Amino acid sequence: MTILTPNSPTAELQALDAAHHMHPFTHGAGLGEKGARIITRAEGCWLNDSDGNRILDAMAGLWCVNIGYGREELAEAAARQMRELPFYNTFFQTSHVPAINLAARLAELAPGDLNHVFFANSGSEANDTNLRMVRTYWQEKGQPQRQHVISRWNGYHGSSVGSGSLGGMKGMHAQGGMPIPGIHHIDQPYWYLEGGNMSEDDFGLARAQLLEEKILELGADNVAAFIAEPIQGAGGVIVPPATYWPEIQRIVDKYGILLIADEVICGFGRTGEWFGSQTMNIRPDIMTVAKGLSSGYQPIGASIVSDGVAKVIDGVEFNHGYTYSGHPVACAVALENLRLLDEEGIVTRARDETGPYLKAQFETLTDHPLVGEAKIVGHMGSIALTPDKASRARFAGEAGTAGFITRERCFANNLIMRHVGDRMIISPPLVISKEEIDTLIERARRSLDEAHAQLQEQGLM
Ligand code: PMP
Repeated sequence: MTILTPNSPTAELQALDAAHHMHPFTHGAGLGEKGARIITRAEGCWLNDSDGNRILDAMAGLWCVNIGYGREELAEAAARQMRELPFYNTFFQTSHVPAINLAARLAELAPGDLNHVFFANSGSEANDTNLRMVRTYWQEKGQPQRQHVISRWNGYHGSSVGSGSLGGMKGMHAQGGMPIPGIHHIDQPYWYLEGGNMSEDDFGLARAQLLEEKILELGADNVAAFIAEPIQGAGGVIVPPATYWPEIQRIVDKYGILLIADEVICGFGRTGEWFGSQTMNIRPDIMTVAKGLSSGYQPIGASIVSDGVAKVIDGVEFNHGYTYSGHPVACAVALENLRLLDEEGIVTRARDETGPYLKAQFETLTDHPLVGEAKIVGHMGSIALTPDKASRARFAGEAGTAGFITRERCFANNLIMRHVGDRMIISPPLVISKEEIDTLIERARRSLDEAHAQLQEQGLM
């Protein structure tokens, strides 16, 4: 068979893709008809496709390429490690240098007493680990009835059966037998669409207190943990009201329930600090990390675990692990990524310079007739599209149509933004420059203008 290359004709690449490649979260037949966009190369914040377009990637891939594309140092780290030790496992009382170094570095970076690391290959796997770990923890603590885990509707924790059950995506639950038993969802702190006439602060408190209600309903002694993203990402970059997290922390403390912060998106500088837990001022017992850990250059995730939880888990044989837990090449690349993020001041510059600039520019979009609000923390932000700003109204017709139309206009203008329903999202590489931010905003504005005209034409507003 012919092996295609990045220089092969787009139509050929698309035809072979449609014939054999099943895509995640995609209507396969629909894509087959349209043909996938084929990304061939990337540098910094810019992608090239097989038609020769140069596209500004305001999503950092899937929220992961924090360091930007094309870093030679990471390719070198991978090549060096592949030559030295391409694989060894960390089961059965063995270890290797990259896993040792990376675990130690994560313990150093993570806040508080989060000093212990269990490796996985993805965020989904790390959350599966967390689910089993918190249940095992309570079993070993002599409270085996504490098996229930509380999470949130419209949270995202992954796509495996365990992590997909922890997540609160109803479209996912409808396929394949999720959620598994023992997982309970409470409503999200999404003021813009669900807050009604309440103030943001009152609404934040009310939504946090749903956790207490659920705990009491299940019986406080039966609850193992609460899991949440510091800022919901895939749910639409939903920044909780300021009152939300302090109240959640109060409640988990009061009932002695473990707090799992899913930092898969928020981690590694995305919210300004190294971790979203620091930005939101919370004290998790476990943090889930992935994505920015290697800036997406290698698949790797991890659970970063407190002294207290690790001590209990270390007291038994934890019958859990993945062949590639702590894969040496992934660890070596992640370690080099963390070194560059730190030593080149990428995280601090994103926090102190480009983050504030991005926020100021992004918030100017609220003067656009389609935009009801703009929310941004660090390098993750979203705007709500609306036909009527004053009432925060939804569009006529199917939810998500306006978002889809806007996303298509962004594509046409060589800008990658994502839509979740009728919210438009950005999560650019942390290395995005001020000039590139200007380009992002200019293209977003143009795309919004075009979407606005199209929505009016179609009678959707
Ligand atoms: N948790 C969060 C918060 C995520 O955003 C994601 C992925 N978008 C995951 C978990 C799952 O990670 P993965 O796709 O690497 O399994």
